[in-house]
Amino acid sequence: MRSDSTTRLHSRKSNGLYRHRQTLEGRQGVHVSIAGRKYLSFSSNDYLGLASHPELIEAVCEGAIRYGVGAGASHLVVGHHLSHHRLEEALAHFTGFPRALLFSSGYMANVGVVTALVGHGDAVFTDRLNHASLNDAALLSRARLIRYPHFDLTILEQRLAKSQAKCKLVMTDAVFSMDGDIAPVIKLIALCEKYDAWLLLDDAHGFGVLGQQGRGVVSHFNISSQRIIYMATLGKAAGVFGAFVAGESEIIEMLIQYARSYIYTTATPPLLSHAVLKSLVLIEREEWRRKKLIQLTECLKKELQSLRWKLLLSVTPIQPVIIGEGSEVVQISNALREQGFLIPAIRPPTVPQGSARLRISLSALHNIEDVKQLAMVLRELE
Ligand SMILES: *Cc1c(COP(=O)(O)O)cnc(C)c1O
Repeated sequence: MRSDSTTRLHSRKSNGLYRHRQTLEGRQGVHVSIAGRKYLSFSSNDYLGLASHPELIEAVCEGAIRYGVGAGASHLVVGHHLSHHRLEEALAHFTGFPRALLFSSGYMANVGVVTALVGHGDAVFTDRLNHASLNDAALLSRARLIRYPHFDLTILEQRLAKSQAKCKLVMTDAVFSMDGDIAPVIKLIALCEKYDAWLLLDDAHGFGVLGQQGRGVVSHFNISSQRIIYMATLGKAAGVFGAFVAGESEIIEMLIQYARSYIYTTATPPLLSHAVLKSLVLIEREEWRRKKLIQLTECLKKELQSLRWKLLLSVTPIQPVIIGEGSEVVQISNALREQGFLIPAIRPPTVPQGSARLRISLSALHNIEDVKQLAMVLRELE
């Protein structure tokens, strides 16, 4: 065992894939401090700039006084607090589904949904570029895992048509986390209707960002379907922590009864739900944050047009610059860092071989000058 780990660690290093953590010394934001140095960061998923918002900090303090710190038990025992309950109602209302259920994290939500709804004899259809949590969930469920090439609905349809599975579940990132492109949700629903399948939409990067008042991908496409199982996270645009699943009442009831990652874990601190309730108000009310993101995104795309490196066709605040090799992207990311810019190098296995990239992510708290500075440095490094 030990020698095997040594070899694997060594091979990660020699392939330029070794990962290191960096320790933030203060708050999350567009300006962060690491090892005593300040950086302009284009790295977080805090798209709306809410993670350190004073009103959320205040809500956390108020929540702590009202509810204490720990939830003390799982939801089904005695850990389901009033703030959890209120937040579930608010999220259902906000996203336009009959009911919603909180999970401790997006990873756990995906594992819970897939394992509760499908099993041996069923089939899960997954876009090749889906988030790891969806694929792990499928493996854990023991349903047959059927992958289709990114956005290739012709192949998806062939595979759906051929499948003899009792229950079929199609699952997709709504906004792809490392590419920033938006799934063809309308066509996916039509296929699910035609082949009697569920559609699990993972809107981790769309919730708060897309749609009217940030209601997410379902509002973005102005759709509604009883086949949708909607999942979104609360630690990205919402700026706090956690996740939820929304859908038909019966689905939510199934999750309460059968989702093991819901049942066998301590409920998240109720003070966090109290803070998310506040965050929802800000998401809904502060349209300027989404407007600003669109402005920044357009500016960045224009500034980077002339680069030799390819930009992906993304209209979201996730703007990847494809470099190719893992070692090269690390070099560029390090060079940016020396000049005070923090942009993560994303390498395999997070993305396919040969598509290592800088993942630039924008926040409503950036300004146009920040984006222009970044573009200038990138042009110099090219
Ligand atoms: C971040 C992410 C998750 C996991 O959510 P957490 O709350 O961070 O566990 C799931 N799916 C996608 C697409 C994500 O980007």
